[in-house]
Amino acid sequence: MERIPVAIIGGGPVGLAAGLEFERFQVPYQIFEEDSGLSSKPKAGTILPRSLEIFRQEGVIQGILREGLRFDEVHFIDRVTDKILMRMLMYPMADESLYPFILNLPQSDLEALMAEKIYQSKIGRLNLRQRLLSIEQVEDHCVLQFETPTGHESMEAEYVLACDGGRSVIRHQLGIEMEGVTHPERFLVADFKVDLDRRSGRQLTYLSYVFDPEEWVIFVRQPRFWRFLIPILPDAAEPTASIVIEKIRRVVKNPTLPIELIDMGIYNVHHRTATKWQDGRIFLLGDAAHLITPVGGLGLNTGIQDANNLAWKLVWVLRKWAGPDLLRSYERERAPIARFNARNQAERNRDVMRMKSPIKRTMRNIVLGWMDRAEGLQWQAAHMRSLLGTSYKPTPKKPGLFSQLKTARRFVRPPVEVGDRFPDGEVLDSKGSTRRLHDFIDEGFLALYVQDVRTRPELGESLEGVQKYLLTRFDAAFDTNLREQALYDKGGRLIRRIGAVDGSIYLIRPDSHVAAIISEKDAHNLPTIYHRLLSTEVFREAPTGESLTAIL
Ligand SMILES: Cc1cc2nc3c(=O)[nH]c(=O)nc-3n(C[C@H](O)[C@H](O)[C@H](O)COP(=O)(O)OP(=O)(O)OC[C@H]3O[C@@H](n4cnc5c(N)ncnc54)[C@H](O)[C@@H]3O)c2cc1C
Repeated sequence: MERIPVAIIGGGPVGLAAGLEFERFQVPYQIFEEDSGLSSKPKAGTILPRSLEIFRQEGVIQGILREGLRFDEVHFIDRVTDKILMRMLMYPMADESLYPFILNLPQSDLEALMAEKIYQSKIGRLNLRQRLLSIEQVEDHCVLQFETPTGHESMEAEYVLACDGGRSVIRHQLGIEMEGVTHPERFLVADFKVDLDRRSGRQLTYLSYVFDPEEWVIFVRQPRFWRFLIPILPDAAEPTASIVIEKIRRVVKNPTLPIELIDMGIYNVHHRTATKWQDGRIFLLGDAAHLITPVGGLGLNTGIQDANNLAWKLVWVLRKWAGPDLLRSYERERAPIARFNARNQAERNRDVMRMKSPIKRTMRNIVLGWMDRAEGLQWQAAHMRSLLGTSYKPTPKKPGLFSQLKTARRFVRPPVEVGDRFPDGEVLDSKGSTRRLHDFIDEGFLALYVQDVRTRPELGESLEGVQKYLLTRFDAAFDTNLREQALYDKGGRLIRRIGAVDGSIYLIRPDSHVAAIISEKDAHNLPTIYHRLLSTEVFREAPTGESLTAIL
């Protein structure tokens, strides 16, 4: 029986992203999809900045940028007063990311672009018409049974990634429950040919949330059509195309608006997460692990981060650079993020849109108006909404109201802490070429020494899977032997942004999250810290007592 290192079940966006992660590290993988082609359903259409960063690492960003629609302004509109309550701006993320914008692209187009790279792969394969029937774990591998056009087939895999969607067969077989709720209300998603740019009476941005207690609407501009998301109340009949068209005309206040239906689908609205994300050698990812209401466009984006978090850990274990306990950190890190995205982002969005009480609506409008004007709050909102603010902080500190108010008034970016995603700033390499910091984590860890190069810091012995570089405001002279490893930080902007103490070392993981911040006096402990991080599930103490060293 053929045995492969990694089997990915499901060729949806998350399964494809997982495949591309193994492609990135050149570890053989196979994807098994039950259908004869990729999805053509009108589902996700909004890709957030953090996912774009991941797509760059996975080598598919060029096609996505070519086909998608970029914009950096989301509107929250009150239907009663027809006023824009808040503009959420993404461009304040320009110092953080190469992609300070949202990109709209239908999920079907995205999947096709991702699959294109997998079809060219020499180490990976996307197998269509292979329905997983059962899975069994034996000592050091899993045995998978598939139904294929030529009969039943078996396959062995060291690890299995369940990316088989909301109705996951694997999750059912493992007896894993989903906790949370399914709302009685459903969702209509309809794609139309319509000219809203000129005929809606206002210039609509490419993502607008129109608030209304009964008939809220989300407008999403796609590269070749407009998409509307409308709630269907619990006892209401499924609307016909003409009823939907009338609704749209009412919302944009244009009773004669020419409008043509392309496609329409009805979906249940859930917010549920799996009670367990790992069972031995099997992991749940994407919708198999979390179902998030489409309000907020977070389901697919959260799933892309799942793949980015888990893949490098599996690669390190398969290469014997890490112990299998490292894999337990996947659930510990990702489950709280999925719960947060489902409850505190998507659900809160839904509640805010359909508020009924006039007092609450007035309060909401005041708060949003205030957020619209406060630079600090705008930055915080964009940081969180873009998912660039996703953090695996071991003990997250929730800012108190007072500190939030202070940040709102005086725009202060928080320093980068252990668990945070490291910002992707611009640096100059030794040849003077402009590079992004994330370029240096494409293949593994980065140990970034924030030290004055003139003090000739010792970078120590080499470590498997780690590149070492200095972040400096002074170029390294040729007689220091550090020239090749020094990255020039123009005006010290990146150093200021991360709030680094001179002499500290940032150990950044391949998924761009900070694994450790090590003080200058603990620099010699870097190999110990690296190896202990990789061999234990949780390691939070500093190896020496009092120091700045903090570890994820
Ligand atoms: C209306 C709507 C709008 C949305 N908008 C957004 C948005 O704007 N942004 C966003 O981030 N998210 C959005 N989402 C959510 C997003 O569509 C999902 O989160 C995303 O599709 C999840 O991807 P997945 O790969 O985990 O699962 P799926 O896309 O469900 O893929 C699972 C795949 O597994 C295959 N499969 C299942 N069982 C088996 C088996 N036994 N053997 C082999 N293959 C199998 C299926 O055929 C399928 O191809 C939206 C969802 C809806 C419904």
